[in-house]
Amino acid sequence: MDFLRCEINSKGTTMDCIFCKIASGEMSSSKVYENDSVLAFDDIRPLAPVHVLIIPKKHIENAAALTLQDADIMAAMLNAAIEAASIKGIKESGFRIITNSGADSGQEVYHLHLHLLGGKQLGPLLTH
Ligand code: 5GP
Ligand code: ZN
Repeated sequence: MDFLRCEINSKGTTMDCIFCKIASGEMSSSKVYENDSVLAFDDIRPLAPVHVLIIPKKHIENAAALTLQDADIMAAMLNAAIEAASIKGIKESGFRIITNSGADSGQEVYHLHLHLLGGKQLGPLLTH
């Protein structure tokens, strides 16, 4: 299937993308929510009581690689994040959605993802 293909990573090598493997089911994950275009699953190293990752099934490197052609995917990702917040019981108590893009952000996995964080007081986004 074309939308699951992942031939080249951010470094231009042919190493496989772990989030493409999770999207295809080749690698296991703790699934929270799924529809045709996106998947939400628990982060393997949670930074809060609730830490869910939301990915498109199609390989997109990061936010910097998005175009207006991806508007439907962006909407689906945000919708999935809210669904995941509801499933995890933090929709009313509050949550934070962030995405890392590129070297200065510390992006570790070069497959676009939203982090959904909550379940405690998260504190300031950035510190001095
Ligand atoms: P980034 O730094 O790229 O924004 O975030 C990548 C996130 O992916 C990290 O929070 C990391 O814990 C998570 N992660 C990395 N490898 C795996 C994996 O194999 N499974 C899951 N569920 N999460 C992963
Ligand atoms: Zn990928």
